[in-house]
Amino acid sequence: MAARKLFHPPSILPLAGLFVLTLGLTLLGTLTRPIESLSLFWPINAILLGLLLRQASLATPPGWLAIYLGMVAADLLTGNDLLTALWLNACNMGLLLTAWYLMVHLPGQPRLEHPLALLHLLLACAAGAAVAASLACTMDGARWFDGTLQTTWLSWFTEQFSTCLLILPALLTAPRSWHRPNLHELRLLRALPLLALLASLAAGLVIGGPGALAFPVPALLWCALRYRLFTLAVLTMLTGLVEIVGVAGSLTFYGVAQHSIDDSALMSARLGISMLVMGPLVVAVATTINRQLLERLEHRANHDTLTGALMRNALAQQTSALLERRRQQPGSSPLSLLMIDIDHFKAINDTHGHAMGDQVLRTFAAELRQQLRQGELFGRLGGEEFAVVLPGANRVEALHIAERLRATVERLQFPLADGGTLRITVSIGVATLGEREYDLPLEQALLRADMALYQAKAQGRNRVMMAEERPD
Ligand code: GH3
Ligand code: MG
Ligand code: MG
Repeated sequence: MAARKLFHPPSILPLAGLFVLTLGLTLLGTLTRPIESLSLFWPINAILLGLLLRQASLATPPGWLAIYLGMVAADLLTGNDLLTALWLNACNMGLLLTAWYLMVHLPGQPRLEHPLALLHLLLACAAGAAVAASLACTMDGARWFDGTLQTTWLSWFTEQFSTCLLILPALLTAPRSWHRPNLHELRLLRALPLLALLASLAAGLVIGGPGALAFPVPALLWCALRYRLFTLAVLTMLTGLVEIVGVAGSLTFYGVAQHSIDDSALMSARLGISMLVMGPLVVAVATTINRQLLERLEHRANHDTLTGALMRNALAQQTSALLERRRQQPGSSPLSLLMIDIDHFKAINDTHGHAMGDQVLRTFAAELRQQLRQGELFGRLGGEEFAVVLPGANRVEALHIAERLRATVERLQFPLADGGTLRITVSIGVATLGEREYDLPLEQALLRADMALYQAKAQGRNRVMMAEERPD
């Protein structure tokens, strides 16, 4: 017998990947750092934190070590001495570990699915940045930063805190798979909040002054109510970065950035900017949570819990909406209804028990749903009676589909406890509504299909019958 493995060594490939990614990002970050003296923007920590929160399997001690080694290696390659590299990156690790630990232990993480999730994110980023800044101050501050202990602490804190706060929401809410944007979403009306955001940023540039930082807030709030969370998170991130670069640019332009007083102006602006965008982000999180809640409620209100099929009222409503649309388009194609009833279902309950009856209903419904195409409706009228609405199907097509469904059900097999197999059959009545009948109430249309179903039952069950065609 093979010995049971008590310890699973981590697979080497993800660790090597993490090392190479960290090395690559850090090198790229160092080489493209725009204004060295202002240490304007260092997104590597936030990117790694986002990755480890999204990919929980990487957040293991060997994973953290791979990241640390990747950072140290990059620093050595760019000319730092070993001690500096070890110390500087210990500060980065302090941020990563602290923020990661808090994030995984606070509700709503990592996908920001809690009304307080953003405030928790703020707390985690602040604590992580404080740890990193404090570690940085235990180094010989004068050696790496020309400033007092306080400016060293503040400069580390503000950079790490604001960068994480600006970047992480977008990283955490990014969809797992990429969907091609729907062309409907690109309509001018949908683009208006985005245009307003661009206009407010432009106004900030023209008018200037400290108040300009808050100009984009109304447009961002509009975006928060209109766009999905990920889109909004990307917009707040870009707005924040544009503003930080804008502030740093104007400080440098006027030649005052060398003085520590203006470094602190930048630090203050950076903190303020990352906090300004919290408002729209909180609105977006709350809106998303409410929307998901409403969708769940609506689904529950409209769908039968046992079979997942539409309930009678919802089916009637959606069919009426289909008929209404067809009424408004003269010359549109017909619409067909199938009324499906399981044969001798009572006997199944009586012989094999109610639980088996339920299982049959569930499997039958799942099988039927699989056979239907998008836009076709499937509802439970009650008990073991179901209806299918086929928009665009004429008599011949509806008959063909009904026959296919009947044959599918006939092939289903339900294993029984005694080793035997239960099979079921259905009878189906079909009615087709022509163009002039679109104002017929659903109940009347169903009655027609029901009469055909009655005939199918009378003629021996397990068959499809077509309702009489109405003379025009
Ligand atoms: P027919 O071939 O004429 O349709 O006969 P039938 O036995 O299928 O029809 P009948 O209307 O006499 O019986 C329907 C049965 O369906 C009776 C009822 O107890 C059972 N039933 C209704 N809803 C459920 C349900 O949710 N679960 C289970 N297990 N049985 C249900
Ligand atoms: Mg029946
Ligand atoms: Mg029945």
